[in-house]
Amino acid sequence: MITPALSGSLFVVAAPSGAGKSTLVNALLKQEPGIKLSISTTTRQPRPGEQDGREYHFTSTEDFVSRADRGEFMEWAEVHGNYYGTSRLTVEQEMKLGTDILLEIDWQGARQVRKQFPDAAGIFILPPSIEALEERLHKRGTDEPHIITRRLLAAGGEIAHAPEFEYAIINEEFNVALAQLQAIVIATRCRFAQQAARNADLFAQLGIHAQQQS
Ligand code: 5GP
Repeated sequence: MITPALSGSLFVVAAPSGAGKSTLVNALLKQEPGIKLSISTTTRQPRPGEQDGREYHFTSTEDFVSRADRGEFMEWAEVHGNYYGTSRLTVEQEMKLGTDILLEIDWQGARQVRKQFPDAAGIFILPPSIEALEERLHKRGTDEPHIITRRLLAAGGEIAHAPEFEYAIINEEFNVALAQLQAIVIATRCRFAQQAARNADLFAQLGIHAQQQS
């Protein structure tokens, strides 16, 4: 038997703040409409311009903790003093329907996802230098200086976990990094198990019933 699989692919993208992760991911989503970004729940305050339900589902710590206790999150973590989590129900429902899901989460969440979905494609976005990282954080101007300092310190901690990911993308030339991200998406979609789950009728017609053992 072909190993049953959820027909959607799961992508986990992590990076230190300021590596350009969100810009890259947004460009990918424009080019690949078949991928849905999972909207996380967080206890962080919305930044100017952020809308509830678009960037995040914003909630109170009390609500977050009770949902975490009920097991509603497939992963959750405390990042920069706030809680962030991914809805288990939403992700699993979408993946069953064959939708590819992308999670923009930190290394702690990525670890939890890897345990539950070993086939998830883990991608770590790296800045081209530590100076570039610092510059991007300052230019963004969305956070108070003390928060920028905290995020810079945390960046080192996040980068230390890059080796846990399957892929590394160095975001120096935006278009090169985007092309690399797309290449990973395309390759992941071509994995045998994904193709078999998506094209069950064809595989049956071709007589592909057994997993090849070497
Ligand atoms: P920000 O507050 O700048 O939007 O995100 C801060 C950090 O939290 C980023 O590293 C981001 O990837 C991470 N993050 C966002 N959503 C989630 C989530 O659902 N789970 C986990 N573990 N981390 C998240």
